[in-house]
Amino acid sequence: MQRVVETILASMEQERAARVTRAELVLGTSGHFTEEAVRQYFQVLTQNTPIEGAALTLSWLPATYQCLSCQHRFESTSSPATCPLCGDVALEISHQDECFIRSIEMISQDE
Ligand SMILES: [Zn+2]
Repeated sequence: MQRVVETILASMEQERAARVTRAELVLGTSGHFTEEAVRQYFQVLTQNTPIEGAALTLSWLPATYQCLSCQHRFESTSSPATCPLCGDVALEISHQDECFIRSIEMISQDE
C-alpha cells in the first residue's frame, strides 16, 4: 500500500500534476484485507499529500477457496466465502498477494 502511494506520487511528478482526483486499485482478495481497512489505510497514507481526498475505486482479484465439507475448490472475491455447492464454510487456500494501480486521474498544474 505504501508502495502504491509512492507510485502515484511518482507518476504525478512525471505528469506535472497538481492533484489526484481518482485512483483505481486492484487488490488480491484476502481475509486480512477488508475494503474498509484499505480505504482507511489509503486515507492515512495520503494525508497531507496531493492525493488526499482522491476518490478511491477498488477492484478485487479472486482468491482460491476449498470447502471444508465437500472439498470443492472455487474462486471468490468475497471473504469469508461459502461453498457454492453445499453452502458450508470454505477455507482460503491461496490468494494473490497483489496490490497495483489500474488507473489514476490527475489535474495538471496548468488547469
Ligand atoms: Zn461444499
